[in-house]
Amino acid sequence: MTHHWPENWAALVSGEECDFCQGMGQDRNPYGARIFEGRYVDGYLQSAKMQTGYSLAIWKGRHVVEPTELTDEEAAGYWLETLRVARAIIAVYQPLKLNYETLGNTSPHLHTHLLPRYVEDPRPGQPFPFLASDGPKPQIPEQRFLAEVRTLRERLA
Ligand SMILES: [Zn+2]
Repeated sequence: MTHHWPENWAALVSGEECDFCQGMGQDRNPYGARIFEGRYVDGYLQSAKMQTGYSLAIWKGRHVVEPTELTDEEAAGYWLETLRVARAIIAVYQPLKLNYETLGNTSPHLHTHLLPRYVEDPRPGQPFPFLASDGPKPQIPEQRFLAEVRTLRERLA
């Protein structure tokens, strides 16, 4: 398998073709459902059946690629609201460890992956093995997913 940067990388970085900017503010998108609506960050529980409680904290202001582009006030807001979402995930799922991954290698719009790690885990002791496939992923059964979304929303209200 060949690894490469997205073909439209420049347009993704400039924000011109940023899927995060285009999908901003939706309660439900093809990847998950909003569990937190902050001033700086929206939190989304991911619906792919990949790792229980896997969520994203997404910067919701103007298009930003690196956290270094934020003002001090924005950076404080971004990380504090990200931690708020993280605390809810820890409380609800009680993982062994939570991982905070600010990557942006396929979607260069500032966001942080919140990945709970469990005793039963695909790669204990190592970074989570994200699969680099673009195809449709198996989804969490809808009823269970919506119940988890409700629980997290209530905790974050
Ligand atoms: Zn963007």
